[in-house]
Amino acid sequence: MGRLIRGLAGDGAFRVLAAETTDAVEEARRRHGLAPTATAALGRALTGAALLAFLLSKTPRERVTLKIEGDGPLGHLVAEAGVDGRLRGYVGRPEADLPPNERGKLDVGGLIGRGDLRVMRSLPSGEIYDSTVPLVSGEIAEDLAHYLAKSEQIPSAVLLGVRVGPEGPVEAAGGMVVQVLPGAPEEAIARLEENLKAVPGFSQLLKEKGLPGAVEAVLRGLGFEKLGEKAGLPPEIPIAFRCRCDREKARASLSFFTPDELERMAQEGGAEVVCRWCGEVYRFAPGELKALNRGQASDQTN
Ligand SMILES: [Zn+2]
Repeated sequence: MGRLIRGLAGDGAFRVLAAETTDAVEEARRRHGLAPTATAALGRALTGAALLAFLLSKTPRERVTLKIEGDGPLGHLVAEAGVDGRLRGYVGRPEADLPPNERGKLDVGGLIGRGDLRVMRSLPSGEIYDSTVPLVSGEIAEDLAHYLAKSEQIPSAVLLGVRVGPEGPVEAAGGMVVQVLPGAPEEAIARLEENLKAVPGFSQLLKEKGLPGAVEAVLRGLGFEKLGEKAGLPPEIPIAFRCRCDREKARASLSFFTPDELERMAQEGGAEVVCRWCGEVYRFAPGELKALNRGQASDQTN
């Protein structure tokens, strides 16, 4: 199970969120049959959505959805996270893959290409805050930092990393946001910048040191204080890939078909509804389709 931790560093100069999402990203890889570079792209976006959900949410039950429309081989990418720690998402072309870039990393920027990042915050009231910025590099961490600075006036450093073998599984995935709070002293900011230059990628840090060790390395000399029970908040939030689809929602989606179409599907042996968010397959037998048809007919006479 992955987890997200929160805290402060640099004597209140920085607000910190960090997440380990290895299992969630592995589940996304398995469910969608993602190639390595596509795994890195969706994994970074899912992790980024989780961090943003906790960074931006003012009330429980909020959700953040990232939509990336790029002109690269991946097509679109959608990642959603709630403050309940649930993540889900999908990409246009799961099989999309590229050779490593010149730094030997999975070429997420190349896979996404140029385009836009749209960030939607859904409030429990049904209200949606929606904001779109152009992609800076398509590497996602940089794009989210740019979004936070531009649209939310939150200066921050964003680190995201996914390490995956040629055949899977995901070995390490996670990320971190360090928000620079108002009045942060110059020396603290300079120290953070030095640290960021010195550390390797976040997935390597995670693999070598685990989540607390990775956070410690990024904040070396700045004193990380984990937010805990003292603040009346859970010290860690469990993070997992978990869709909100179910059999009843899948059945409801069949009501968009006409009675004739449902009848034909029944004659052809049944129907399958595939959830695009998680790849779950819901099968409906001919009898169920016929019952649905009868239900619709009686709705019309009522
Ligand atoms: Zn689903």
